[in-house]
Amino acid sequence: RVPKVRNGGQLAPSKLRGSIEFKNVWMCYPSRRRAHVLKDVSFKVSPGEVVALVGPSGSGKSTCVNLLEHFYETMSGQVLLDGNPIKAYDHKFLHRRVALVGQEPVLFARSIKDNISYALDNCSLEEVQLVARQANAHQFITELPEGYETEAGEKGMQLSGGQKQRVAIARALIRRPAVLLLDEATSALDSESEQMVEQATQNLHGHTVIVVAHRLSTVEKADRIIVIDKGRVVEQGRHNELMQRDGTYAKMVRRQLLG
Ligand code: ADP
Ligand code: MG
Repeated sequence: RVPKVRNGGQLAPSKLRGSIEFKNVWMCYPSRRRAHVLKDVSFKVSPGEVVALVGPSGSGKSTCVNLLEHFYETMSGQVLLDGNPIKAYDHKFLHRRVALVGQEPVLFARSIKDNISYALDNCSLEEVQLVARQANAHQFITELPEGYETEAGEKGMQLSGGQKQRVAIARALIRRPAVLLLDEATSALDSESEQMVEQATQNLHGHTVIVVAHRLSTVEKADRIIVIDKGRVVEQGRHNELMQRDGTYAKMVRRQLLG
């Protein structure tokens, strides 16, 4: 694979396989230079793998996910996407192909249609609906009360947290991202909607998914679970393996700390 080179040597390959590697990553936030939030974090995610990231609040899950959008720099170590450092990628490219849905999605003060289709370059409502259907995103938007033309974003206070979440998920799915990052994206949704998200992500076929979640029903279905505690990876494996090992994860499940 020869990546296309654009914007002063930044990577924008025609195809992303979606492999991820954290290699001995140490990280602190600029405001707290001495407090390491990630401590020697290493893990790999293969293309198409669905990985659940779990751990107590403040353990560094969101930080890991945000590093994949290159929102922050690491202190040392590397975050690699398809074997290339994340910082080598063209920013616009990265944000199209690596889609992040956070806990409190920010919508633009535009219609729902504009919100979900901004990455699709000026298409008609019919085209948006078609792509949404193909991307399995349709179900998230059809049930919104006022439909596609409703103002979302700032003026869209009429949308509930769960509804905004659904728009944000549709917006991410519609791009058919190579990597989908769901950071507690379904926390505001009822369990029926959460099941829809699970089905939709399973249908992404071969696309890499990292999901930060609390519901055991979501976590136990992942191909692999990575347990992070106080900035360190403490365990990883399938649900059954981790339950047998009877370590941190098993304790969390037993104490219902996953949610
Ligand atoms: P999690 O998602 O597992 O709850 P986070 O990655 O959000 O954990 O946070 C890990 C640690 O980093 C916490 O101690 C948190 O207070 C700190 N932190 C998170 N974001 C920032 C920030 N923007 N500036 C400074 N510290 C932060
Ligand atoms: Mg978080």
